[in-house]
Amino acid sequence: MRLNRVVDDARQPEQDADLPGFWRALGIPGLADVHTHFLPPRMLRRVWEYFDRAGPLVGVSWPIRYKWSDEERVAHLRAMGVRMFSALAYAHRPDMAAELNAWTMAFAAATPGCLPSATFYPEPGVTGYVREAVDAGARIFKIHLQVGGFSPADPLLDEVWGLLAEAGVPVVVHAGHAPVGTEYTGPGPFGSVLARHPGLTAIIAHMGAPDYETFLGFAARYRRVALDTTMIFTDFFDSMAPFPASALPLARELGLAGKVLLGSDFPNIPYPYARQVAGLARLGLGDEWLRAVCWDNPVAMFGRPVSGPDRLPGVGWRAVAADDLPARASDLARAVRVDRELPAHLVQHHVMVPPAIILEPA
Ligand SMILES: [Zn+2]
Repeated sequence: MRLNRVVDDARQPEQDADLPGFWRALGIPGLADVHTHFLPPRMLRRVWEYFDRAGPLVGVSWPIRYKWSDEERVAHLRAMGVRMFSALAYAHRPDMAAELNAWTMAFAAATPGCLPSATFYPEPGVTGYVREAVDAGARIFKIHLQVGGFSPADPLLDEVWGLLAEAGVPVVVHAGHAPVGTEYTGPGPFGSVLARHPGLTAIIAHMGAPDYETFLGFAARYRRVALDTTMIFTDFFDSMAPFPASALPLARELGLAGKVLLGSDFPNIPYPYARQVAGLARLGLGDEWLRAVCWDNPVAMFGRPVSGPDRLPGVGWRAVAADDLPARASDLARAVRVDRELPAHLVQHHVMVPPAIILEPA
């Protein structure tokens, strides 16, 4: 269902409250954001303190905008129409990742729309707890090579990469040098992992900033490598590491090929969420590209978002824009047909997210 309206300059969302109007005009059922953070509260407070004092791995003044409770932040995502999001956590020392996973997995289980998220660190036992997380339903992993301070090519992780590649579970990797590089960041270290595990489903965070072209090249070369837009194309990030105009045609091509996914870094951002989306709209890469990046690509990779506890019966569902639905609920069942083109594995739970879209079972 495409409403095929043009998103002109006036449709660039300026405030978070403008976002529902933005995605409705595009004819998509909401936003799907692969890169958001939810952490155990004590740890999140420490992260915020670090940003506040512009710690050495941040480098610039970074006043976090959304220092709210988990409940308030989830409610804000929902109010903006972010129907799918993640709870990315990462470890900076040993003996931490498994505990983080227990927290983020429980958080996702209790939070409709949140992808079961997990992390890992090069340490003895890592393969075991990664396997446990995958078995427990983890849908997305995250590692941060800069904050983590480890090489992705660490031999302790070799089995983990193989396991994730085989399981097809995506891993978001903060692999780029931005905002402050270390010996483990940049295209070299993670490039060597991809060369060894070319089947890995990887999402390069921040589009690989500042080495955009090389990381976009990885996405072009490896079938299952994608990039997230996190913070890129915002004025804040542009002042540190602007995306080169020469790479926009490739960014467009990759987006239309399913390989650019909306990411925001919410809540750890020093500006309103809407600026991330406005930055994408401002690129002028077309409505189809925006639909792909903000909804279709994440949904193709992770399946349709959850908004309730019920399990799907395992056949395709069909999305229907609310505008096109009959007014009376009793007419609904007849009005909705099953779209068999939507692969069953992409559809995980029932979705009922009025007013924009309603999915009905077969
Ligand atoms: Zn992040």
